[in-house]
Amino acid sequence: MNHQPYERWIFESDSLTHAEQEALATHLATCKECARLRQKWSQLEEEALSSPVMLAPQPGFTRRWRHSLIERRQREQRRQAWRFFLFLVAATTLVFLSLVCILLLTTSPTEWIQAAVHTLATTASTFAAARGLAFTWLSLAPASLNIIIGIALGLSFSILVLIWTFAIWKTALTGVWNR
Ligand SMILES: [Zn+2]
Repeated sequence: MNHQPYERWIFESDSLTHAEQEALATHLATCKECARLRQKWSQLEEEALSSPVMLAPQPGFTRRWRHSLIERRQREQRRQAWRFFLFLVAATTLVFLSLVCILLLTTSPTEWIQAAVHTLATTASTFAAARGLAFTWLSLAPASLNIIIGIALGLSFSILVLIWTFAIWKTALTGVWNR
């Protein structure tokens, strides 16, 4: 039995003319194969329509989804900024404490008083006083150790200043902490 054009019509049932629909109905009444095909096809159509995957997204869903994604990203950025900030505070504190420890270990209180008196007596401004204090300490502790510690602390201080500058610049740019 020739099943064309009925087989094709089964898949195009929505776009058939009245005459074609009648001819198809007549063929389906006499042809078991085409009737079975028609039944399977309408079953598939029903399943596809009732499946949630085939449903179009509700209005505004895409916009809401995108909005929540942006919010999640911003929250993550804020958390990272805070983690970075806390790390900077910890690192700066560590460097400062180690500097204090080294000063306390390598010099005695008498030397500190001497250095303070000396610097206060010999320098006028605060900047000059701090510089004098550093020079006094340099003259009190062994030279090679001084150079190594000085380079190490100076380097870490410079790096921290750079990181701080970068962090402030970056957060000021994005305004993450202003929220
Ligand atoms: Zn047939």
